[in-house]
Amino acid sequence: MSDIPQERRVLTAIPGPKSVELQARRTAAVAAGVGSTLPVFTARAGGGIIEDVDGNRLIDFGSGIAVTSVGASAEAVVRRASAQLADFTHTCFMVTPYEGYVEVCERLAELTPGDHAKKSALFNSGAEAVENAVKIARAYTKRTAVVVFDHGYHGRTNLTMALTAKNMPYKQGFGPFAPEVYRVPMAYGYRWPTGPENAGAEASAQAIDEITKQIGAENVAAIIIEPVLGEGGFIEPAKGFLPAIARFAKDNGIVFVADEIQSGFCRTGQWFACEDEGLVPDLITTAKGIAGGLPLSAVTGRAEIMDAAHSGGLGGTYGGNPVACAGALGAIETMRELDLNARARRIEEVMKGRLEEMRAKLPNGGLIGDVRGRGAMIAIELVKPGTKDPDAAATAALAKACHAEGLLVLTCGTYGNVLRFLPPLVIGEDLLNEGLDILERAFATL
Ligand SMILES: *Cc1c(COP(=O)(O)O)cnc(C)c1O
Repeated sequence: MSDIPQERRVLTAIPGPKSVELQARRTAAVAAGVGSTLPVFTARAGGGIIEDVDGNRLIDFGSGIAVTSVGASAEAVVRRASAQLADFTHTCFMVTPYEGYVEVCERLAELTPGDHAKKSALFNSGAEAVENAVKIARAYTKRTAVVVFDHGYHGRTNLTMALTAKNMPYKQGFGPFAPEVYRVPMAYGYRWPTGPENAGAEASAQAIDEITKQIGAENVAAIIIEPVLGEGGFIEPAKGFLPAIARFAKDNGIVFVADEIQSGFCRTGQWFACEDEGLVPDLITTAKGIAGGLPLSAVTGRAEIMDAAHSGGLGGTYGGNPVACAGALGAIETMRELDLNARARRIEEVMKGRLEEMRAKLPNGGLIGDVRGRGAMIAIELVKPGTKDPDAAATAALAKACHAEGLLVLTCGTYGNVLRFLPPLVIGEDLLNEGLDILERAFATL
């Protein structure tokens, strides 16, 4: 890790004058469609800190959206990627291959759930991995339909926009979307009409009924699901839901795809979130946390499914870039050496304890409708007190108050009313608690 002091420091307004200047250049040169949560320009980052160009040090509760789980300058990632950079930057694996790619696929076979024969293919982004999972499932099943869920998020390319539930900002004005995509209910416990205890059984029954009656199970190539939903609001599908859907897929020859792009690689306190209910997906998509910040993604799964696509049918110029593969090997080494699964579980314990305390003791704690998530993937859903009406305005105001004090937090959720916390798993406990102190004070400013 680089030697950035692991201390919050607020020297200027946030954003500071140098960031404001850069933001003006950015506005003139960068397309308006590319947004930023907080227009603070980064100078360096590592551990639990992001240092900006004005010398401010922000506590990082975002990890670049669940990417830098090992920190943004982890020693093993920097060492391995730098060495690879000096050896060669690229050959294209489809032209002349290299060992790093193979080694990442070997690690994926070891780490992902199930002890069946597995193979992988590597790509650059999460969306690309999801697209390829669909290609592979279609090639294997010779079927076309793809089933996804309410509140699901799978990316911003044309096919993955179709798979994604939320219109604004991801889809509005960008259609038409890919055909043969069907959306069914999700067991969103907090908002399930008959209560969270019934959500698993009722939502899975509804989903299966819709698949059977409206699509026809024999037409479905793949069911794609996030074992803990990310952009949709850190929703943990109610217990029983995932196993019921997985069983239905198995019984009907449908490829069950776990999209663990956000929830994977120690984020939830297990290597993969689907381990929580003992699920063994046929295919699993990974990206984000896989390579310590370098762009890499993968589809991993049953060898016979992965091999269904003809030679030359999968790939891409940069897929499994050697520097990104070296970064992944460094990130995985760090996760193992530092036992980041244990760290994630400890983060959950601290965060949930503090958040429940805030809900109980703050005069406006009633705003916190739900505290949820697993590991270092924790969220609060904000509502108008005494109701379940989403309060997106309070969510935005809380995030803004945190930013002003040097705590980077992100929002998410179909209703824009979820404050999510995704600290690097290597964050110090002092910084974690200081961040939660800032959040607690932010409630007082509302
Ligand atoms: C972020 C995300 C994606 C898309 O990944 P990109 O790298 O942004 O293309 C897909 N699925 C899930 C669950 C994600 O969180």
